[in-house]
Amino acid sequence: MTERADIAVLGAGIVGVSTALHLLQRGRTVLLIDRREPGEETSYGNAGVVARDALVPVLFPQGVQALWPFALNRTVAAHYHLRDLLGFAPWLAALRRNSAPAVVERYATIADRLAREVVRAHHALAGPAGAEHLFRQTGWLRIFRTPEGFAGAEKRLLAKARAAGVAFEVLDTAATLAIEPHLEPAFHRAILFPETESVASPGRVTQAYAEHFIANGGRFLKREIAEIRPLAKGFEIGVGGETVHADQVVVCLGIWSKAALKPLGYDLPLAPKRGYHRHYAPAGEASLSRPVVDIENGCLVTPMLDGIRLTTGVEFARHDSRPTPVQIARSEAAMRELFPLGAPVEATPWMGSRPCFPDSLAAIGPAPNHQGLWFNFGHGHEGFSQGPAAGHLLADLVTWSRPLVDPEPYSPARFS
Ligand SMILES: Cc1cc2nc3c(=O)[nH]c(=O)nc-3n(C[C@H](O)[C@H](O)[C@H](O)COP(=O)(O)OP(=O)(O)OC[C@H]3O[C@@H](n4cnc5c(N)ncnc54)[C@H](O)[C@@H]3O)c2cc1C
Repeated sequence: MTERADIAVLGAGIVGVSTALHLLQRGRTVLLIDRREPGEETSYGNAGVVARDALVPVLFPQGVQALWPFALNRTVAAHYHLRDLLGFAPWLAALRRNSAPAVVERYATIADRLAREVVRAHHALAGPAGAEHLFRQTGWLRIFRTPEGFAGAEKRLLAKARAAGVAFEVLDTAATLAIEPHLEPAFHRAILFPETESVASPGRVTQAYAEHFIANGGRFLKREIAEIRPLAKGFEIGVGGETVHADQVVVCLGIWSKAALKPLGYDLPLAPKRGYHRHYAPAGEASLSRPVVDIENGCLVTPMLDGIRLTTGVEFARHDSRPTPVQIARSEAAMRELFPLGAPVEATPWMGSRPCFPDSLAAIGPAPNHQGLWFNFGHGHEGFSQGPAAGHLLADLVTWSRPLVDPEPYSPARFS
């Protein structure tokens, strides 16, 4: 079998599905390919936050005192596999360079341009796809257990939020309990970001967008992608012993993008930051109406269709090595101090990998060495938020339209 398309979009996570929909809306013949049904990997397992306030990149711990707890591998927020750590060394060194104050300031300006678009870009797809009912306009709460933790946010995040005009409210314990009455008063302050939205099932949102793509003439092929072969004109994609021919190809394979592009000569600094989730029944009558993140411990609880979803911070390990759910146990214990979780809903936690570049920016744009090949991956901690806006931007670039935001900071050529 040889399938043909103007454009093949590889990967049906939130980024690939959104990209495919935007290209379809511009009149292209689009074939979306994934070995699984749409939205079943990382785009299923995340916390479902659509963040307006993501203005600070991931930072390397500053100073020995901050680094020491991570080195001991005992924090709730981060965990590592010792045998894999050497492989992360160049990436961590680059993260350290990207944590310099001037780089962090530049990041805030770049991130704000896209963060302004993320909520609007989701609703532009959610309305026609019939997924609006999965969205909540309740904002999210960033909780700080200690005055020191809050002072850090005041210095870094709130200064940038003020400069960007992002709405927020600093709440003391009583004011926080007035809007989330089942939280335990075991914290110092909370910040409510009301413009940030969240969803009750990121997997279902992605599926709804994919169904809308198919209902409007897009094609979906459920196959393992084995190879991308550049031809004199266009590309041949090996899918399970068969081939697809496309004039152009967009790679949206999340963490798998690095391995898929290596045979074409691209060695990209894309690292997996693994994370876990598990659903719990609420204890007794306890309820939650928005995501609540325990900043010092990097874990979060949010109400989902399947129960209260607890998500963890970061695990540094190869994305395909076996799960070690140390962090879910630590996060569960920490979160029980803030919210009365009941029994777990599933026997084992879910695990997935955030696809992360060390400058906390995705690669969105043309591949440096192959005409007609495009990248849209590496959205890190913000991929569910950014998927629809990143799909819009990529479609702008493919169709030579006015770009949604300045694409230069996202250019894949920055790694050449
Ligand atoms: C615990 C956790 C919490 C998070 N919380 C948030 C949050 O609240 N908000 C936010 O914005 N982001 C969050 N993220 C990040 C977000 O989930 C990711 O950035 C995003 O889902 C990446 O989407 P994607 O489409 O690039 O990748 P994916 O969803 O992983 O999709 C990639 C697709 O490629 C397919 N694929 C791979 N290889 C092949 C192959 N060889 N053949 C065929 N198909 C293939 C896979 O099957 C998959 O469907 C979180 C992540 C984690 C782990």
